[in-house]
Amino acid sequence: MTRIYYDTEFLDTGREIELISIGLVSDDGPEYYAVASDAPWDEIAHHRWLCDNVVPYLPLAGEVRKLPFGSGSTFTIDLGHAAVKPRWVIANEVRQFILDIPHPELCAWYAAYDHVALAQLWGPMIKLPKGIPMFTCDLKQDHVRLGEPQLPRQTTTSHHALADAQWNRQVGRYLQELDRKGKTRG
Ligand SMILES: [Mg+2]
Repeated sequence: MTRIYYDTEFLDTGREIELISIGLVSDDGPEYYAVASDAPWDEIAHHRWLCDNVVPYLPLAGEVRKLPFGSGSTFTIDLGHAAVKPRWVIANEVRQFILDIPHPELCAWYAAYDHVALAQLWGPMIKLPKGIPMFTCDLKQDHVRLGEPQLPRQTTTSHHALADAQWNRQVGRYLQELDRKGKTRG
């Protein structure tokens, strides 16, 4: 199996997960990052947490400006940026990225919502393309199983999907190493 570590940023309405950005990094090197040009930007602009924690790290044309009364921000996504593309293009590119890797295994940190955000690129569950894993391994589960050891600190921008995916790879490798050492000792 070859691990693909990934992360998504999304708008969670409580009923729907709307993809904002996705980063994937394979255990053997290749990386992918994209931002959905057709994400619901008006709703995102009124979501304070996303405006504070996610939007500033997206490709923007100009500044993020706070709206009065703490009700969100105004910003413009840089549609000319190479990473900004429509969902259907991201769907095709993510599928190709995953299918190019032999025996892919998907891994994420607190993975449940990420798996939905990824799988919905292709619509409902039954439309998941052949060859795309039907589940994502949760690194948090390994972390708990191994006694919640201190993890490597993330030194890059948190809540940037590619930077988070790279940190996931660091964590995944660290936990695998601990697991191996534990088994050798045992
Ligand atoms: Mg993230």
